[in-house]
Amino acid sequence: MNQIKFGEIMLTEEAIQKRVKELGAQITKDYEGEEIFVICILRGACFFTTDLLKRIENNVIIDFMAVTSYGSETKTSGVVKIIKDLDTPIDEKHVLIIEDIVDTGLTLHYLMDNLKTRNPKSLKICTLLDKPERRKIDIEADYTGFVVDNRFIVGYGLDYQQKYRNLPYITCLEEV
Ligand code: 5GP
Repeated sequence: MNQIKFGEIMLTEEAIQKRVKELGAQITKDYEGEEIFVICILRGACFFTTDLLKRIENNVIIDFMAVTSYGSETKTSGVVKIIKDLDTPIDEKHVLIIEDIVDTGLTLHYLMDNLKTRNPKSLKICTLLDKPERRKIDIEADYTGFVVDNRFIVGYGLDYQQKYRNLPYITCLEEV
C-alpha cells in the first residue's frame, strides 16, 4: 500500500462485545465441566482473547504463541515461522487456538499440523474474523465471530505496520 485512508467502521465496539459474549456462552456450553487450554496467537488476537476469556465460565489456562508469515505488508506468503512457542505442554489438554483472522488459512494450517503432533486431547479454533474469499487451503474455524469481505482490516488487535491495534472497533484501510 502506498497512501492509505480509513474506510467505514465495519464493526462497532458494541457489536464486537455482543458477539464475544455469545461466543463465550457457546464455548462454555460446549466444553461443560472441562478445563480449556487457550492458545492466544500474538499479537493480533490479544484483545479478542482477553475479552472472550472473561465470558467463558470454565477453568482456563492461557499460553501464547507468536508466528510470522513471510511476505509483503498486506499479503501472506504461506511460509510460517514460530517466533515464540508455548511455555507449557499441551498433551491430554483440550486446546482452543484463538486467532484474530483467518485469511488464506495457511498460518492456521501450519499451526494445526504442528500442535497435533503434541498430542492434545482435542484441538479447536476460535477466530474473531473470517475472510473466506481469499482462502488457499481448506480450513474452517470451529467458532467464528464475523465473516468479512476481502478488505484490509485494522482495529481491535489487528494492525497496519504495528499501528491501530488499540482501536476499540474494526475498520478497514483503503488505498488512495
Ligand atoms: P493467513 O495465513 O490466514 O493468510 O493469515 C493470517 C494472518 O495474516 C492473520 O493472523 C493476520 O495477522 C494477518 N492478516 C490477514 N488478513 C488481515 C487483515 O485484513 N488485516 C490485518 N491487519 N492482518 C491480516
